[in-house]
Amino acid sequence: MPSTADLPSSLSAIVPLSPRRLRLRVVPPAERQLRDGHPWLYDSSITEVDGEGVPGDFAVVFDRKNRFLSIGLFDPTSPIRVRMLQTGKPATIDGAWFASRFGEAASLRAALSEPDRPATDGYRLVNGESDGLPGLIVDRYADTLVAKLYTPAWIPHLPVVLPALLAVQPARRLVLRLNRAMVREPAHLQGLRDGQILFGPPLDGPVVFSENGLLFEADPVAGQKTGFFLDQRDNRAKVEALSRGREVLNVFSYTGGFSVYAARGGARSVTSVDLSAPAMAGCERNFTLNMGVPRVRACSHHPVVGDAFQVLSEMARAGRRFGLVVLDPPMFAQSKAQVESALQAYKRLTQMGLAVLESGGTLVQASCSARVSAEDFFTTVEDAARQFGRPLSEIQCTAHAIDHPARFLESSYLKCLFATA
Ligand code: SAH
Repeated sequence: MPSTADLPSSLSAIVPLSPRRLRLRVVPPAERQLRDGHPWLYDSSITEVDGEGVPGDFAVVFDRKNRFLSIGLFDPTSPIRVRMLQTGKPATIDGAWFASRFGEAASLRAALSEPDRPATDGYRLVNGESDGLPGLIVDRYADTLVAKLYTPAWIPHLPVVLPALLAVQPARRLVLRLNRAMVREPAHLQGLRDGQILFGPPLDGPVVFSENGLLFEADPVAGQKTGFFLDQRDNRAKVEALSRGREVLNVFSYTGGFSVYAARGGARSVTSVDLSAPAMAGCERNFTLNMGVPRVRACSHHPVVGDAFQVLSEMARAGRRFGLVVLDPPMFAQSKAQVESALQAYKRLTQMGLAVLESGGTLVQASCSARVSAEDFFTTVEDAARQFGRPLSEIQCTAHAIDHPARFLESSYLKCLFATA
């Protein structure tokens, strides 16, 4: 196991694991939720806490009968005041405890690396709460790991957590990413920066990794998410299987994940549309990386930088038609108040996608808005298609892949519909 001494001075200078344990009591409904395994405790549910607390303190919750209920990481900067590490049985949270959680997460993903499968060394190794490590995401891109934190509570624990991670998943490099709230409020970051390489050689360009035998690049320092939308791997493979001989349109393509799969699936042409010019440049490089695959080489790729809604309406007006249309927009609803407008946007997109879909073609539409339920999303898309006069004949509705487990309601966000119309 790499020791703290192997980690750079930026990390060994971090104040070591805080021995402080706060004692908390909570309202009865929160007690029930914790007992049922919910990983979050909101500040409004706390009735007693025996100190001020700093990010990363352990918070130990006791029930009405003064018995141990849960232990978690305290974060006074967030309304999610405690993220639970363990419930039911008391535990010493140390390097061995973290290593055991990382080990469980790694074995859950073992199927991705089975020797009879096409190579995949880019996947989510740790999916936060749903892998028992709340507020911590770890993505693997070949020999680079990217750890993304959603709470400063992890920072004082990093000198213990990272060696435990590297013992389970050895890597050449480890990049730290911080969520927006942490970047805005740097007081608790102990000098760490978003995009900082905590371990290993500097990056002089994107990292190249494999997904189902295809090569992709990811920019773990500046890219969206941790550099790639790893969550769509299974849906991309389904698109590959449906693309043969078709003209494919991939809207909100980012760096062309769906596009390259469609090309390998035998699409005659692929048109990728995204607002971001750097993402589209990445998309073209991803095609270049896969020129060794005959079908990718044979497919003509048309990159379009522009607003999806505008491009779709121009294509419809010009009479352009495609045999398969992928619509994978960014999150439309950040809050409950935005759910209605998100559903309206999904409806509009469905109809705009159908306007450029040839008769009998396949529509693939995804939603990554956690606030929008799967039921509301699928119903909205189906109703929109019916109103448009192109009722859908469903092929499949999909949710989370094995490396993106979603073990509680708030963590489930991805849904994707495959249908013909
Ligand atoms: N399908 C992609 C992920 C899409 S993420 C994949 O599998 O990798 C959403 C993408 O939508 C981002 O790349 C973002 O740049 C793009 N985007 C956001 N608003 C847009 C708009 N109005 N028109 C076109 N693209 C947009």
